[in-house]
Amino acid sequence: MRDRKDELAENLAKVERRITAACLAAGRKREEVTLIVVTKTYPASDVRILSGLGVRHVAENRDQDAAPKAAACSDLPLTWHFVGQLQTNKVRSVVGYAGLVQSVDRARLVTALSKEAVRQERELGCLVQVALDADESGRGERGGVGPGGIEELGELVARAPGLRLDGLMTVAPLTGPYAGRELAAFERLMDLSTDLRRAHPAANMVSAGMSADLEQAVAAGATHVRVGTAVLGVRPRLG
Ligand SMILES: *Cc1c(COP(=O)(O)O)cnc(C)c1O
Repeated sequence: MRDRKDELAENLAKVERRITAACLAAGRKREEVTLIVVTKTYPASDVRILSGLGVRHVAENRDQDAAPKAAACSDLPLTWHFVGQLQTNKVRSVVGYAGLVQSVDRARLVTALSKEAVRQERELGCLVQVALDADESGRGERGGVGPGGIEELGELVARAPGLRLDGLMTVAPLTGPYAGRELAAFERLMDLSTDLRRAHPAANMVSAGMSADLEQAVAAGATHVRVGTAVLGVRPRLG
């Protein structure tokens, strides 16, 4: 078996080349796009190697896995992003290590995050997760609010003590009018971001694109891509 560090370094270099090429093709500067490595299902030892290779942003989607990993890596200069569906009973734990929650999708969650951020004296960045497979006013299969719910939720986050409204996040939908049309989905997210920034100019993060569609996300204008498989390998189980 090859050394894990060499493997991760090689994968990271490939992803870096893809992002650079996508930026070039889109006439964007490489610095406009931040890579977040999604380390879910992989061990803390991999996170440590990635940190040594220069990764500064990592993401997780389950608190049960993320909390011990973040604790084991608390000496590293990493920002942890929480990107999964979040139950309010996990909020206390998540606020303990996450710098950002990208999956904010309901008022009750905003209230819980705010209360906990204040209690722990932390400032927590929040992205509203947008479901492009939902009705305008509906909710997504895998979390997220329909486009019609962004303004109200964004306002709520912006006014909540301890929280900072940073922008929008989406996952390319598998069903509905945007299924299989990643570029169109991410362009729609950019339009929604433009609307949001009229009232909240600082909420300029646009988190979109994963291993399979990071080029489309960069082409559409994403500021953050969340890449798991292409860096760490195919996950052993669904996560
Ligand atoms: C797992 C996950 C990713 C990364 O997906 P890959 O296809 O492995 O790159 C990105 N975003 C979210 C919300 C995820 O759950």
